[in-house]
This record gives sequence, C-alpha cells and structure tokens, in this order.
Amino acid sequence: MRLDKFLADTGNGTRSEVKHLIRKGRVTVNNETVRKSDIKISPDDDLIAIDGEIVHYEPLVYLMMNKPAGVISATEDKIHKTVIDLIPDYQHYALHPVGRLDKDTEGLLILTNDGQFSHDVLSPKKHVDKTYFARIAGFVTAQTITQFASGLTLDDGYQTMPAVLKVLSADTNSEIEVTIQEGKFHQVKRMFEAVDMKVTYLKRIKMGELTLDATLLPGQYKKLNNLDINLVK
Ligand code: URA
Repeated sequence: MRLDKFLADTGNGTRSEVKHLIRKGRVTVNNETVRKSDIKISPDDDLIAIDGEIVHYEPLVYLMMNKPAGVISATEDKIHKTVIDLIPDYQHYALHPVGRLDKDTEGLLILTNDGQFSHDVLSPKKHVDKTYFARIAGFVTAQTITQFASGLTLDDGYQTMPAVLKVLSADTNSEIEVTIQEGKFHQVKRMFEAVDMKVTYLKRIKMGELTLDATLLPGQYKKLNNLDINLVK
C-alpha cells in the first residue's frame, strides 16, 4: 500500500495534507525519515510514525443502519440504549453516528470511525441533501409546498434554506417526502410546526444520493463500500 494512502486511510488528513507531512520530513518508516509519498509499505509489518507518534492501523469502517425508534444517536448514554449498543460486533472499531436522528426518528444512519468523512458530511458549507418520509397530522397543500420552497422561519427565528416537499397523499393525515439541506435540531418537526402541522412519524430515507436499503429492518445494518460512501458527499 502507498504510504500516503495508508496515512490518509488512518485519518491523518487528506491525500494532499499527508503528502505535505511526508515532504516536510515528519514521517518515518521503521525509524527512517522518508520524503516520498508513493513508497510502498505494509501496514502489518512496517512501523510508521508521524512526529515520532506511531500510527496504528485501524481500517476505516462505514455502516448503514436502519435506526429503530427508541434508541439514541450517540456513542453512550447513561439511561437509554444507543445505536452503538446495536452493533456489538463492531465495538473495537470505535464507531460514531454521522449526525443525529431524534430518539423517535427511524431510518438511514451512517456509523463510521472516519472523522474526516463525518466532518465533511456535516459541514454546513457542504449542504448534503437529506430526504425524509413523514406522516403529518394536517392537510398538506400546494401552499405548504410553496412555503417550504421559500424557506420557513423556525420558532427561534432561524430562516431555513429552501426545502423540496413532495406530497404522497394529502388528507387530514398526509404522507410526504421532504428534502432539506441543513441539519438543525428537530428541523423537519419544527418546519411543520412553522406551518401549524405536526409530524407523527419520521424516517430518513436518503443522504446525498445514498438511499436506505429497503431490505434492512429497523435495527439492522450493513457494511458500505467506497462507492456507496462517495454517493453521500
Ligand atoms: N428532523 C427532525 O425533526 N428530527 C430528526 O430526527 C431529523 C430531522
């Protein structure tokens, strides 16, 4: 494996950042300073260090979970079950959820140990689209669609970015899909409150171009590969 790929994969920066570290002479392979990014190393046999600190090889892992209602999107909680409690086989990878879903929200949650990936996906500058299916107590109309498209003012005065609202069935209990670009606390619920309606069920079905695998039952998860991951950003 190339040295720069090893350093990037182990979370020490982007490819260009780690190349810079190598050029600066801050990286050693078996205690020898190296200045070439493309030299081949073996993660199992060679000892790689940055500024004298050994780099431990922990492969980056990405899971897609269909989060069930009733568990918290956090790494630990004194009272409630967390999403980490649902992945006992992965405890040694130190995974964390990429963003949060409310305790009662279901659906697509990515878990990873790739801090750079989480940072990129959650960065307010990136505007990664998030799509939710929801049931709404209230009659969602064409006017509601226009209100969402213009952006709404939440209870704390925050002005949301435009959101795309699609009505699947309009009734006193409507079913909708909504795509938002931000991830404010309780955002979808608060957007519907802003138009005097209430979300009674919420499930995230898509992040970027990555769609929740419909075969995953609540609480089930599967490993994602690099192609899947690139669909998110
Ligand atoms: N919006 C909400 O209101 N809750 C979530 O869990 C996610 C988005």
